Amino acid sequence: MKTYVVGNWKLNFTVGEASIYLHKLSKSLPNYRNLEVVVAPSMLALQPLSLQVDRRRIKLAAQDGFYRDYGAYTGEVSFSQLRGLADYAIIGHSERRYVFKEDDKTIQKKVAAALRNKIKPILCIGEIESERAFGETADVIKDQLLGGLAEVADDNLSKVIIAYEPVWAISSVKGAKLASPDEISEVINIIRQTLSDTYGPESAEKVSVLFGGSVSPSNAGAYLTIPGVNGLLVGGASLILHEFIDIIEIAKKVQA
Ligand code: PEP
Repeated sequence: MKTYVVGNWKLNFTVGEASIYLHKLSKSLPNYRNLEVVVAPSMLALQPLSLQVDRRRIKLAAQDGFYRDYGAYTGEVSFSQLRGLADYAIIGHSERRYVFKEDDKTIQKKVAAALRNKIKPILCIGEIESERAFGETADVIKDQLLGGLAEVADDNLSKVIIAYEPVWAISSVKGAKLASPDEISEVINIIRQTLSDTYGPESAEKVSVLFGGSVSPSNAGAYLTIPGVNGLLVGGASLILHEFIDIIEIAKKVQA
């Protein structure tokens, strides 16, 4: 199975800065087999970067997309417009859920629209701090997971990547804390068990599950060795090129 290192640039970098970063990243990366390096630039940068990127080495992800293919939806960009430009799309990121108030119904339509347009969804799920404190983590995870996957046909399941991101561990959240490997492991098991109970063990095994939440070169190795974790979704550290490269190198070592 592949190991993923996905950099989510969020609302950072001009198109020019993004292009320079991508150029430097490509120059520093050996051709790693079975390691999928993905960056998620802004919508504006996706098109020029799609012409620049060598997709054998680096893949592009959209940070979002709209579930209708076309129509009167001012300001939106559809997955049909992203088709061919992005290989992946981050969907249901906690900032989309909590800042932009996206619910599971919207997210499930986006997951389906991405798949319909040959873009692999990276479905983000994760509990907020108070849900964890009230012992609701398992329920939240199951609801977000099955809600997001509700329109996915069984034979498409392996194309979806799940990213477990406890919201309280995301670096941009005030007072963010690091999640411990034990805390992560417990939730990864819930995700894998839920997939297995719903889709059967064989299909569930084919799903890649990533972890995200203040990943840095100093904790990437520990997170990547948690059983059932197939890669990392990196926010803040992906903006610092040498840190992102260090994380990729660590992923390669863990895989070897
Ligand atoms: C994220 O927002 O997806 C994320 C994981 O951010 P950070 O690595 O900065 O916590």
